[in-house]
Amino acid sequence: MVPTDVIAKTIGVHGQSPNMVDYAAERAGFRWQDARQALDGLAGGGLNIAHEAVVRHARSDRRDHVALRCRDRHGVRTEMTYGALDERSNRFANVLDGLGIGPGERVFVLLPRNAQLYVVALGTLKNRSVLSPLFAAFGPEPIRQRLGIGAGSVLVTTPTLYRHKVASVREQLPALRHVLLVGDGAPRSTPAPPGTLALADLLDAASGDFTIGPTDPEDMALLHFTSGTTGTPKGAIHVHDAVVSHYATGRIALDLHPDDVYWCTADPGWVTGTSYGIIAPLVHGVTTVVDESEFDAERWYQTLEREGVNVWYTAPTALRMLMQAGAEMAAAHDLRALRFVASVGEPLNPEVVRWGRDVLGVAIHDNWWQTETGGIMVANYACMDIRPGSMGRPLPGIDATILTHDDQGRIVLGPDDRAVEADVGVEGELALRPGWPSMFRGFLGDAARYRSCFAGGWYLSGDLARRDEDGYFWFIGRGDDVIKSAGHLIGPFEVESALMEHESVAEVGVIGVPDALLGEVVKAFVTLKAGYSASVELRLDLLGFARRRLGAAVAPREIVFDPHLPHTKSGKIMRRLLKARELGLPEGDTSTLELPS
Ligand code: ATP
Ligand code: MG
Repeated sequence: MVPTDVIAKTIGVHGQSPNMVDYAAERAGFRWQDARQALDGLAGGGLNIAHEAVVRHARSDRRDHVALRCRDRHGVRTEMTYGALDERSNRFANVLDGLGIGPGERVFVLLPRNAQLYVVALGTLKNRSVLSPLFAAFGPEPIRQRLGIGAGSVLVTTPTLYRHKVASVREQLPALRHVLLVGDGAPRSTPAPPGTLALADLLDAASGDFTIGPTDPEDMALLHFTSGTTGTPKGAIHVHDAVVSHYATGRIALDLHPDDVYWCTADPGWVTGTSYGIIAPLVHGVTTVVDESEFDAERWYQTLEREGVNVWYTAPTALRMLMQAGAEMAAAHDLRALRFVASVGEPLNPEVVRWGRDVLGVAIHDNWWQTETGGIMVANYACMDIRPGSMGRPLPGIDATILTHDDQGRIVLGPDDRAVEADVGVEGELALRPGWPSMFRGFLGDAARYRSCFAGGWYLSGDLARRDEDGYFWFIGRGDDVIKSAGHLIGPFEVESALMEHESVAEVGVIGVPDALLGEVVKAFVTLKAGYSASVELRLDLLGFARRRLGAAVAPREIVFDPHLPHTKSGKIMRRLLKARELGLPEGDTSTLELPS
């Protein structure tokens, strides 16, 4: 995709100079070792995420700085300082220790986004146990499946979630020794259900002092399940050294400054909710907004305005929904505190980037990464012009490339077994040179699958992309989603973005359907904006619109209207499900499917 327009960098918004002012210079001088030096490390050597996220601030003059500013479902605000977060998480670490839960044991968390989540997450890491967050919206089967794969020893949840989602599968989880319940408004005197413990009582009885034991940077710290967009979710293992990546990317890709108010809207059950909802902002000592409620356009604008959010990390689906809510709603709010907005999880349509500039007053910076990479890998930075539709350039310290495939989809290897890198503009698989701190160290219980992610000295992302002459990366699609039609390789994103430019379109999912002549043809499922209704005329108009923009070879042959595209609970369009339904095939793993409310 040749860039049609460029949004010039806006350095010095609110007089704040970005942490990285010159991409090329930072890249040339970057060493992970230096990033590691910016952290404390443990007194006796070693590295522990919780120490960097909270202990070192609690022992400094940032002790009384607000770490968490929480809004519950009813809009009630509470704050927790770094000192208080340190003390509360010490108590949780002592609770685990008192229950005989040791280093390496898995602690699963099934909680809404609230302060308790942070206390539990940090206490778990202090105890050197492994944190594994789950989506609170999961049903019993996905919970059982993940607790089973992870052999969870402890589950922390609420009485309601326990009753509805865990009690029925508890007997199938022999490794699960303790279920700790966080109050969800029920009176403290209500007895905990059989086989569970009331966490509030345990925390009250525990000591607020805790010393983190020796932690090797390679010790397992986090177990994150992938979103399951392409199949059964995998459990990606991350280690304490990942905090070095969280720190570096928080500085460079999110441009966090110490006095920032920061809001990450990702669900805690997704890797972004931990890497950038918990760890990166705390490591930088900023104030994090923790909003318990789900998406609501008016409420989100209120949160941005009332909390004075400076740095905002969100996702394309949410941004598209804000666009749908209309520019008037945005204009009714004072969003001038916003300095830097970033997006991840799905391709960010150029239309949305420009909408950000025009309506929010700040362009939106797309970035790319995966559960497996543990942290941001390719990004648009504050100091760099944005090419709308591009994911940006590799993080300093990250060596990214595009690899060439043969007809069978295999990576082309050179005579020395090194993978052959594609030329500028050529479509291929986005690959990364292994070795950054937050890279996953395995898929739990699936060594073969882990090995299959590497070839010719590269980590293979499974995503197709191309690189332009200035080193900007352009997303084409997931390897599995790419459409092959009459010898063309068509990325769903390109087609979806073109249709998004039509005034009636709120969201689009594009798939390939088999065609005897062409191999596959492009089919689009379109959700219309409020105020538009499906009609034959509109369908023809959209077909013509796409044809003019994309050309006949790439434009959809077929368009259907669909008011509810299937999404994962993390907000991604599940194209494989659109395809399975279209072809009457089994739907496969739907544990992360968001059910329409
Ligand atoms: P699974 O691996 O189980 O199929 P998943 O790949 O959706 O699920 P995640 O690790 O949560 O699970 O998502 C990472 C993927 O999301 C990337 O590989 C990419 O396909 C997509 N993605 C993330 N950010 C972007 C982006 N900025 N642009 C385009 N795609 C993105
Ligand atoms: Mg994936």
